[in-house]
Amino acid sequence: MGIPLLQAVRIGTYVLRQHLARRERYPLVLMLEPLFRCNLACAGCGKIDYPDEILDQRLSYDDCMTAIDECGAPVVSIAGGEPLLHREMPKIVNGFLARKKFVILCTNALLLAKKIDDYKPHPAFTWSIHLDGNRAMHDKSVCLRGTYDKAVEAIRLAKSKGFRVSINCTLFNDADPAQVAEFFDEMKALGLDGITVSPGYAYERAPDQQHFLNRTKTKELFRGILSRGNGGKKWPFSQSINFLNFLAGNESYHCTPWGNPTRTVFGWQKPCYLLGEGYAKTFRELMDDTAWEKYGVGNYEKCADCMVHSGFEASAVKDMMRRPLKALSVTLRGVRTDGPMAKDISIDHQRRAEFVFSDHVQRKLTEIRTGKAAPEKAVAAE
Ligand code: SF4
Repeated sequence: MGIPLLQAVRIGTYVLRQHLARRERYPLVLMLEPLFRCNLACAGCGKIDYPDEILDQRLSYDDCMTAIDECGAPVVSIAGGEPLLHREMPKIVNGFLARKKFVILCTNALLLAKKIDDYKPHPAFTWSIHLDGNRAMHDKSVCLRGTYDKAVEAIRLAKSKGFRVSINCTLFNDADPAQVAEFFDEMKALGLDGITVSPGYAYERAPDQQHFLNRTKTKELFRGILSRGNGGKKWPFSQSINFLNFLAGNESYHCTPWGNPTRTVFGWQKPCYLLGEGYAKTFRELMDDTAWEKYGVGNYEKCADCMVHSGFEASAVKDMMRRPLKALSVTLRGVRTDGPMAKDISIDHQRRAEFVFSDHVQRKLTEIRTGKAAPEKAVAAE
């Protein structure tokens, strides 16, 4: 597994403390989106479809430090938008490291060669390079030829300078298991420290709505991939074995959206990294005032096909605490890639999707233009 021992021990201790304190909901990874502006426009991305006034917004260094101090998660994953477009990014990374957090800086790597000397290698700092498969798969996914080659060059450069480097790989319904397995082999040969893999979430604002995976296809795809890699043992995944086991259809988890609380330029996003159905001003308000029971597979139409790591990794970690021997057995044997799958959660009684994106955009624009938060009614009237 691509999780360093120091990180595994520190996070394990943190999770154990939460269990002993009988905390029902606690954060594991702060998902920080300090800007939405990006230098790519990927077909499956639902994060950047905003007017320029919103794309020009940034979370400041102070906003970012307040976010981590408020929530207390042991890990911060910085995404966006493209984080390397944020001028204060090196200071933000150092601020988190000074607070003894593990920092994952996600980037499409287009600017990495230019910016790399603003950062220093650190055992708790990892570059996470966006790579959705081999050259053909990735360039198609990000809608720009040559991006794969630049990302691979960036990986080599960062490794040569002594950084920890992983990739984050999102898969869609045109992924071929054999090709993905071969791609993971190539990434391992590059000396990567970790691989994070996840099925894409069907963002309602993504330009390409045709290529998102449904649950059955996701499980079949991951069985196909993992069966070519000794049940997943062959590659340095930076995810728990339980999460991989879930992706292969051997577990049926409810999501844990509060495990990866998300702070964006809008505020704390309700309920999760993938869905923006409301925003809280503080982390406490997010935890206390979100109607969590309204979300998750079986509860809400927009959740029906979700098996994304930001929603389910925390569920997998919690299960590991509850059934450590089961997790050990999967670790030793590898993920099972044949036989019956676990019964999935019924979606027969889920509530219908609500579409609130335009309201949130209008409220934010009013706030930017007037300097005052717009009340809900003002939005409805606009
Ligand atoms: S299933 Fe959970 S993590 Fe996925 S979109 Fe719904 S609330 Fe978010």
